[in-house]
Amino acid sequence: MSVVKRLYLAGAAALVIAAILLYTLAWPAWQQQLTQQESERLAQLVANARPAAPQNRLNPQRMLADLNWLAHPDRQGRKPGTDGGIAARNWLAQQFADIGLQSAGTDGYLQPFSVAEHFVFSRWIAGKSATVPAAENAANVLGLLPGTNPALKPIVLTAHYDHLGSHDGELFAGADDNASGVATLLELARYFRQQPIAHPLLFVALDAEEGGLQGAVALFEHQLLQPEQLAFNVNMDMLSRDTNQLLFAVGSYQQPWLTPLLQTLQQQSSVKIIAGHDRPWYQAGNTQDWTLSSDHGVFFQQQVPFIYFGVADHEDYHSVRDTADKVDTDFYLQVSETILSFIQALDQHLNQG
Ligand SMILES: [Zn+2]
Repeated sequence: MSVVKRLYLAGAAALVIAAILLYTLAWPAWQQQLTQQESERLAQLVANARPAAPQNRLNPQRMLADLNWLAHPDRQGRKPGTDGGIAARNWLAQQFADIGLQSAGTDGYLQPFSVAEHFVFSRWIAGKSATVPAAENAANVLGLLPGTNPALKPIVLTAHYDHLGSHDGELFAGADDNASGVATLLELARYFRQQPIAHPLLFVALDAEEGGLQGAVALFEHQLLQPEQLAFNVNMDMLSRDTNQLLFAVGSYQQPWLTPLLQTLQQQSSVKIIAGHDRPWYQAGNTQDWTLSSDHGVFFQQQVPFIYFGVADHEDYHSVRDTADKVDTDFYLQVSETILSFIQALDQHLNQG
């Protein structure tokens, strides 16, 4: 072996050792530093939030009645294609009709589709997760409310109505996840029917979110929606309880123009709004990134601008204890009022832009 070759080998070995050292020593330290920075940023947002007085444009009795209906044991946890899931979507289509929304599915208000076999995660189901078999008869529910300016593209409001069903005789009611988001979706439809904004609003109750966002995928896969024909997606998933009374807004990292909008929103909101959980690992270290955590992720992948409103995972998340009696009524109502204010501000902002 020549001297030059030996030098090359030694150099290569040194590089490999340096890379290993960098990976085992510097990388975790770097990630830890980023995580620390991000949690300090979020803590500062919490500390600086100045909640405003509560608002009361929405009807709390009606919202809670809808939430209770969806989370009732008779709905059997609303697993896609089951009797409970089918009852829920037929009821939702009837609600859309009663409110006066135009049908916007492929079969009236419904967009039937089939779900592929998938996994759902739960710490509380035996084996820590469950395989959900493929099902033929899932369906999204879509209703359109025209705006005052017919030239504008619709803002799409989404909330998934499916949940985990039952496992080993135990019922997963899914009150917070996501009867809460759907009940808000319905009440917002009633409100905007009376007080229309410039943009058309497309109300979508999605099926098969749990384990793969398959309802949102079906919207685009079967070309019911074209990404370039949509103005924006507002996704609501888990709105009704949070130990720290925080409402998370995900998407201002991808759409920085949302930041001033959220700052103004905070001045009108009686809950604390935290913009975060949307930064990648090279910005936020080990802080969870929720960009793909619910149906808004599919809109993001389709390059439709989005925001996701929701609470942090709580101890009853995906457990049999996520029941309607755990709902924090005042917090839930004010979260819904905040989302209403956001949609109005978004409507004005997009109209000016
Ligand atoms: Zn959910």
